[in-house]
Amino acid sequence: MTVTDALVRDDERHLRDRLDELLPAFASDAAENDEHARLPEAALRRLHAEGFDAAALPQHLGGGGASYSFFGEVVRALAEADPAVATIWTMHLGAAVGLAQLTADSLGSYYADALLAGDRFANALSEPTSGNRFLNPQQEASPVEDGHVLDGAKRFVSGSEIADHLLVNVAIDGAPAFFGVEPDATITVIPIWDSLGLRGTRSQLLSFHGTLLRADRRGAAPGPDHRNYVGAGLAGISLGIADAALGALVAHARSRVIAGRPLAEQQWVEYAVADHHSRIEAVRAYWRQALRQADAGDPAHAGGFDRAKLLANRVAVETAQLAVRVGGASGYLRTSPIQRHLRDAEAGQLMAYSTEVLSGVIGKQVLGTETAR
Ligand SMILES: Cc1cc2nc3c(=O)[nH]c(=O)nc-3n(C[C@H](O)[C@H](O)[C@H](O)COP(=O)(O)OP(=O)(O)OC[C@H]3O[C@@H](n4cnc5c(N)ncnc54)[C@H](O)[C@@H]3O)c2cc1C
Repeated sequence: MTVTDALVRDDERHLRDRLDELLPAFASDAAENDEHARLPEAALRRLHAEGFDAAALPQHLGGGGASYSFFGEVVRALAEADPAVATIWTMHLGAAVGLAQLTADSLGSYYADALLAGDRFANALSEPTSGNRFLNPQQEASPVEDGHVLDGAKRFVSGSEIADHLLVNVAIDGAPAFFGVEPDATITVIPIWDSLGLRGTRSQLLSFHGTLLRADRRGAAPGPDHRNYVGAGLAGISLGIADAALGALVAHARSRVIAGRPLAEQQWVEYAVADHHSRIEAVRAYWRQALRQADAGDPAHAGGFDRAKLLANRVAVETAQLAVRVGGASGYLRTSPIQRHLRDAEAGQLMAYSTEVLSGVIGKQVLGTETAR
């Protein structure tokens, strides 16, 4: 281990301790954020103030150079407390670090400096027409003197209402192109986000009316060595929700007494909990392996992220469904956290790439009928 590596690990340890202190407050706001579809803005600003954003920025871009493994553990822990915080933080870093990487040669430290200064970022990638294939934009931008112009829409943009910068992709002559866009009067938020789960992400529809995509804010194509925080983090969001659902199940089973004995002592509950806990731990171990592969620069991590997301999305839904069964009618009430975990777990499967798209990709790889995603 080099001196720099040792300093990074010390920073990670310090931040992990700080996170343990922050999480109870984040968790205690989660139910209200969900109830009112309220952005957890204070938690996100706190994460920045405590140094989590700077830590996640790669060292060559002026950040702390924290590992994927560290990033993943922070996302999982945040998701157990409030998955809306975890989702927006993942998207924020995905967009910020993505823009800093894509424009490093043309704009220097512009986006890295903005992240370090506390600006907020969002991914405006998904389109009404491209659906899950968010990296293959269908909306063609028209050339103008200073760049291109976009007339169209991006949807489900988590945290967009507080974003200072958007990572936007469009088609130019049929090929994907990436831009940094600072929201102005040409971009309107259409408030569609009255959703079943992950309500605090406020993943709104953005309408673009003649928005200038500045030539000097255009990024290069993503490279294989670029940080992929969204790909790394999505499994962690679902694992955190699975952990929260199992925690709520255990709390209920231990406190609910039926005919004089705790529900936790019924054998069907023991068997089912053993099964789900073992599967959560297996997915966690597999995901951590993929994170370590990413830290080591092993290209196998990309397939690991896909499989970890698929498995984590499923185990989160199945664990939350078990929690509903164990919770009985009292767990079905709005006052119980169990129903929220089930609603949040469902959202993990929808976020790109969805479990269906991933199943198609992985199935084709295994069957040897692989085509481009
Ligand atoms: C909570 C949440 C937060 C999000 N945050 C962001 C964000 O910050 N930025 C952003 O850009 N986007 C975001 N998204 C969008 C998301 O990542 C997807 O791109 C988007 O949800 C896909 O569109 P759709 O849901 O309409 O699904 P569709 O693509 O219309 O899919 C509908 C159904 O068809 C299936 N399907 C689609 N394509 C295929 C295929 N090729 N093969 C097999 N099955 C297929 C899907 O699995 C699904 O079952 C978010 C979504 C959610 C739910």
